[in-house]
Amino acid sequence: MFDNLSEKLDKALHVLKGHGQITEINVAETLKEVRRALLDADVNFKIAKEFTNTVKEKALGQNVLTTLQPGQLMVKLVKDELTELMGGDAEGIDLSGNPSVILMSGLQGSGKTTFSGKLASFLKNKKTKKPLLVACDVYRPAAIDQLHVVGGQIGVEVYSDRDNNDPVALAKAGIAHARANGHNVVIIDTAGRLAVDEEMMTEISNIHKAITPHETLFVVDAMTGQDAVNTAKAFNDRLDFDGVILTKLDGDTRGGAAISIKSVVNKPIKFIGTGEKMDAIDVFHPSRMADRILG
Ligand code: GDP
Repeated sequence: MFDNLSEKLDKALHVLKGHGQITEINVAETLKEVRRALLDADVNFKIAKEFTNTVKEKALGQNVLTTLQPGQLMVKLVKDELTELMGGDAEGIDLSGNPSVILMSGLQGSGKTTFSGKLASFLKNKKTKKPLLVACDVYRPAAIDQLHVVGGQIGVEVYSDRDNNDPVALAKAGIAHARANGHNVVIIDTAGRLAVDEEMMTEISNIHKAITPHETLFVVDAMTGQDAVNTAKAFNDRLDFDGVILTKLDGDTRGGAAISIKSVVNKPIKFIGTGEKMDAIDVFHPSRMADRILG
């Protein structure tokens, strides 16, 4: 995960990690290299610039050159700032409802259906939760089949109705089914498109308005870099979602989406997907991710 970025940051921070004398010049050089590493990882230019400016200000504020271990302090400042950029503390999802309704949104292929299954399995393992998956993609019969396959794998019931082609009515019927059958969590999988289009946005915002979910999650493929950030912005403008799910972090992703998304939409990344299997799900912890990136 983010091997390239880790390697470049490690190189950038090499001098500060105790391999040479620390001067104002090499602090500036280091930050330039850090910025370059972020840009190479597909972090947006403005964010990368702000990042290094903030670290520089903090370093000056703490008189970094006169402290006992300036190198370590600089590394810590970079790590703290990376953590802050990715969201500070980890944030959970709202499970206070009975049933708690979780609406999944995102482009086709982002990993919505897979993640819906992973989340259902994750919650089912908590013992106190009895999830229901609801298939609301009325355009692709294969998508309904896929959700049934996923549900079968994890032993979670799937609500679908192939005769109903109204996604709002389907979502409502799914919630009613959950109420009637003692499910305390409902995860609604919706239709995506290959790119942001008005029809999809209208449909997902109509579902959103009609069911007022406890939690609206936006699923995005981390491999798509700055596109991921732009798509997040488009969905957030319409849905004001609660959190981001970053999928495919097991792939050869450069890291830009993980680092930029929070500061662009001001919504936390809540979970990450790290594989195709149903247990490849992790709660997102910004500080652990920063530790991993900085090695
Ligand atoms: P949807 O169209 O948004 O519902 O996307 P799908 O759930 O069908 O996922 C699209 C493809 O991405 C499938 O082949 C999934 O197996 C794959 N996929 C989903 N999440 C992950 C992940 O975290 N890692 C990897 N490597 N593949 C994933």
